[in-house]
Amino acid sequence: MAFRFLAIPAHRLVDFPNTLPDDERLEPELPPVHEAVERALAGAEFRDLRARDRMRALLQGDQPPALGSPGKGFGPSAVFAKPPQDLPALLRLADELEDMARREAGERALVWKCGQCNARYAVPVALVRQVSIRCERCGTPVELSSQQSLGEEALIDPFQGAVNTSRHELATFFREAMARGWPVLVSEGGAPAPRTRASTPAA
Ligand SMILES: [Zn+2]
Repeated sequence: MAFRFLAIPAHRLVDFPNTLPDDERLEPELPPVHEAVERALAGAEFRDLRARDRMRALLQGDQPPALGSPGKGFGPSAVFAKPPQDLPALLRLADELEDMARREAGERALVWKCGQCNARYAVPVALVRQVSIRCERCGTPVELSSQQSLGEEALIDPFQGAVNTSRHELATFFREAMARGWPVLVSEGGAPAPRTRASTPAA
């Protein structure tokens, strides 16, 4: 399930099944990675509730969301946060998301390439010693000096990278929406589409 956040001025909200206007809208650029947004919000709190639980309760609770859809493939929207009463809580959530991204940013590593065969070597920054190793692939000496490294990168898997990108994007988006005084809406993708099944001719 894909969650989508957006903010528009309160006076431009419309009810489902209309589509929310897209000429005056703020939307975070979230990576199109399955479940990255849910994971990004997991463990973060909003008004004494887990942010992810609040999102689910709004969209999948007894009372269906009533506001317009953000666009094709998405269902109705619900208000996730509304200024001014939710402003402090949303700014706290933004800070929390950035703290989580920092904590889970992964260890930094220096990277080298073998000059002969281009094999890559990454060594955590804390463990870097100026030594020469033999390339495991071709046997050529590789000088692990910081001057010859290609630079630093995070030792992090792509999914965790997408989760952290989502956290930074959401934090920036929440702050900007509150600065403009716009309500933050959330909607869910894929939900309203009727379940269809590719028909296979009976054998
Ligand atoms: Zn090599």
